[in-house]
Amino acid sequence: MIARKIRIKGIVQGVGFRPFIHRLAAEFDIAGFVLNDTEGVLIHAEGEPENVGRFVDAIPEMAPKPAHIAKIASEPVSILGRADFRIIPSEHREGEVTAISPDLATCEDCRAELFDPGDRRYGYPFINCTHCGPRYSIIENLPYDRPATSMSPFAMCQNCLAEYRDVQNRRFHAQPNACRECGPKYDLFDLAGLSVRCDDPIVFACEMLRDGKIIAVKGIGGFHLIADAANGEVVGKLRERKERPAKPFALMVRDIETVRKLCEVSDREAAILSSPAAPILLLKIKKSPALELPDNIAPGLDRLGIFLPYAPIHHLIFALSGIEILIATSGNKRDEPVSCQNDEALRDLKDIADAFLVHNREIVGRTDDSVGFVFDNELTIVRRSRGYVPRPVEMPISGASILAVGADLKGTFAMTRGSEAFLSPYLGDLTGEKSLELFDEVLSRYLKWLNIAPEAIVCDLHPDYASTILAERLAAEWGVPLFRLQHHAAHGISVIAEHKLPDKPALTVALDGYGYSSDGTIWGGEFLSVRHGGFERLAHIRHVPQPGGDRAAVDTRRMALSWAFEALGEKVIERIPDLLDDLSDLAGPLLSMIRCRRPPLTSSAGRLFDSVACLTGVCSRNTFEGECPQRLTAAADMFEMGHYEFATTDSILDPSPAIRRIIEDCSAGIDKGIIAARFHRGFARGIVDMAHKLAGDNGIGDVLLSGGVFQNPILLELVVKGLRGRGLRPYWNRIVPAGDAGIALGQALFGKKRFNSK
Ligand code: ZN
Ligand code: ZN
Ligand code: FE
Repeated sequence: MIARKIRIKGIVQGVGFRPFIHRLAAEFDIAGFVLNDTEGVLIHAEGEPENVGRFVDAIPEMAPKPAHIAKIASEPVSILGRADFRIIPSEHREGEVTAISPDLATCEDCRAELFDPGDRRYGYPFINCTHCGPRYSIIENLPYDRPATSMSPFAMCQNCLAEYRDVQNRRFHAQPNACRECGPKYDLFDLAGLSVRCDDPIVFACEMLRDGKIIAVKGIGGFHLIADAANGEVVGKLRERKERPAKPFALMVRDIETVRKLCEVSDREAAILSSPAAPILLLKIKKSPALELPDNIAPGLDRLGIFLPYAPIHHLIFALSGIEILIATSGNKRDEPVSCQNDEALRDLKDIADAFLVHNREIVGRTDDSVGFVFDNELTIVRRSRGYVPRPVEMPISGASILAVGADLKGTFAMTRGSEAFLSPYLGDLTGEKSLELFDEVLSRYLKWLNIAPEAIVCDLHPDYASTILAERLAAEWGVPLFRLQHHAAHGISVIAEHKLPDKPALTVALDGYGYSSDGTIWGGEFLSVRHGGFERLAHIRHVPQPGGDRAAVDTRRMALSWAFEALGEKVIERIPDLLDDLSDLAGPLLSMIRCRRPPLTSSAGRLFDSVACLTGVCSRNTFEGECPQRLTAAADMFEMGHYEFATTDSILDPSPAIRRIIEDCSAGIDKGIIAARFHRGFARGIVDMAHKLAGDNGIGDVLLSGGVFQNPILLELVVKGLRGRGLRPYWNRIVPAGDAGIALGQALFGKKRFNSK
């Protein structure tokens, strides 16, 4: 006989881990005990040496799907002579900190029961077990016990309580355990907030969906606006009511087989769609799909945002409505966080929805659906919310507790404890009051959970960011130092943080729309040398005027004219007559601003993409962030292998030669798809050339790719391949977004380094 102590860290509480260990112990004839404590799960196992060894090996291999084992360590201990294996109840102490699980999609067992007429939870929309159900979204306090969640008003009935107390049951200590007798319920409200008289609110809502109505449905982390995706008219109505002319709508699709009728789906993509996190994945639309959808769902784009039903209510809606594909877009006002309270939804969505399918369980932690795409066979996150938060990101260094407040447009903060960074869910555009309130609310909950007081704060260099102003206020209130970090350096350091790279110079290529710098120009096409605690600018995309400032980010004709002038000078007048015609009265004043290089000047890669989209006639207005670039990429015919030349000097990557050729090719009537492909290939080559040269000059081997432009999978692939071809080591964001929602992680590492070396 031998005995071992096994310590497991990670997300191992509230995911059915102890019952799993209990079963496993029985299988391998192991005696001892298992318990939850502040660090995770602790096991004492004794038995035949061979059995104990196999038991330890089986833990990570057979762990329940929603568990996330960060670390497992075992060591020999003395034999206690236990007769059996037991689950020892945890003793929760004041201020205890355990890793809170993200919300988990309905598991297969619960789904089977949901549709089993003989099961007592047949058709019950809040069915869950220790392997699935809400977690983050219902937890108010720690330790994670029912009274600390929004399930506290629902007292378990005798049947539920028996399951909850039975070690062998799948619902042993499942905090949200409930049934029709004792749990939350759905109700259907009309626009006045009055309960609609009907036999069954869900059945009635499904009839409305079939009739082409838009229903606001309260789910796990907030409200969705749901409608029949096959009905082009209702999609159009939703666009009008949401004042959203072109931004693509996410689709919730009945099952993976139906997804395959619409899009190309790899095994990896199928696995991620069906994972407990159930994110929205951006999937390539099939050349000839087996199902036709109206063209106003994702106009001009080659990818669809798709997710599978992840809550029991979603499964029920598909079953009861018979609809295969639903529009399921966040129930929010533009750029605001998703609505999650019943009265709030009734107020905010009354001009959009036709009815409200609500329930009486409060959503404590509001989350949007997460978004990502698969690149290099790995999930690459674009929006990190439901299913991922509050799972921490492990950083390369430990030390002080840092609050990093992120950037404004994609509000997200990071709070660190030890070497872990806990990122908030996506909070919306922080220039809006509701988002700022949410920031405060989530921050105070995180501080309570983590039981720490921040020792320093990091914000962006931008003096007018709402997040900066907030950081200044908090720093004064708490009496802690405030560090400021340039936007693109933060992008680069976020890559260092998630790949746990050592503190030595790495070359960052940060491409995005806009970032503040103290030199008075707009940065957005940057080559920086960064390390944990600082950065240096090495090169950038050539500066051009951005006539009209922010207006040029929406009306991309302004930037197109600016780049055309940069490339051709006064010859623009005869070379781009169509654009000048289109600008009509605006052309003169714009040209004079451009001629005298009136500030602001910009090195933005986003604005460069905008310009090419406009010059080629693909798209001339960003009705949502990234619209023109995304449409240009969707238009690109990548069978075309040609490229446009970019010029490089020591510190400037100059697109002017490419712009000249684009204008020539456009007047020669060359296909847009070919021009778009040559631009992508040329730009990628330019980036790789520049990076190669700078890396060589500075003795650097690691190249970090970040910024929203790298959420473009075609550009990312070309650059990654190009860098590898030159013997460099590229790294890019995966766990946190390459866009501004990932900035907080970079700020957090920077803050740690700065504080530690103080
Ligand atoms: Zn389940
Ligand atoms: Zn019950
Ligand atoms: Fe950015």
